[in-house]
Amino acid sequence: MRKKLIVANWKMNFTVPEALKYLAAFRREMQVGYPECEIVICPPFTTLFAFDEAIEGTPLKLGAQNMHWEETGAFTGEISPQFLKDLNVNYVLLGHSERRHIFGETDIMVNKKLSMALQQKLNPIVCVGETDAEHKEGKTFEVVERQIKKALDGQMRSDLENLSWAYEPVWAIGTGKNATPEQAQEVSQWMRRLIAKIFDTPTSEKMRILYGGSVSDEKARGFLDQPDIDGLLVGGASLDPKKFAGIILATETTQ
Ligand code: PEP
Repeated sequence: MRKKLIVANWKMNFTVPEALKYLAAFRREMQVGYPECEIVICPPFTTLFAFDEAIEGTPLKLGAQNMHWEETGAFTGEISPQFLKDLNVNYVLLGHSERRHIFGETDIMVNKKLSMALQQKLNPIVCVGETDAEHKEGKTFEVVERQIKKALDGQMRSDLENLSWAYEPVWAIGTGKNATPEQAQEVSQWMRRLIAKIFDTPTSEKMRILYGGSVSDEKARGFLDQPDIDGLLVGGASLDPKKFAGIILATETTQ
């Protein structure tokens, strides 16, 4: 049984004082009790240190929104996996569509980042998904297949235990448009079958596949009820403590 994973991607939002204020409000919302799921918050890098201290005693885990593929070196402005581990970061988002489409991250860069994250025992969440144009041209499976195969190229099956995926159709990110739960299930099931073909069924059955793209507290349950959707990657709605708490609580009532 795969444990549900709910991830907040704060993107470029919240200073340290704002993040601490958010946490106080979020803890009040969660006074009803935390369900049996994993909850990861990915704040900006500048907030990780303070947030790590602040979440002590809560079940919250810390994630990063990106990292570099080398351990150290002349890479001005980059963040190494070592820096993340130093701050008790457990999870790292890789290949988010904003990294791919705004900052030109390629499949090869995502592959190198994944190798390093696996080697460093950071739990990577690799984001995949088609753009609006690709969606309209019926290229969803082709694009997602390429992104998955390139990310997995050269990775060792024995290292993949802590790898998760996020299926995030680019046309649904921050747009208020969602894939339907059925569409997201179709792609997630197909991703699991593809991974089973590349490696094997037990490996694919262990991997968590999240859906992301304008998830709200009202819509969360529809996605979480799908057999191949093991959690959610949440951007906009995760910035509101009440809405994010609502999404987490929706895991309680799902299969
Ligand atoms: C995201 O940034 O990964 C995301 C899914 O954003 P939003 O929920 O705002 O669409």
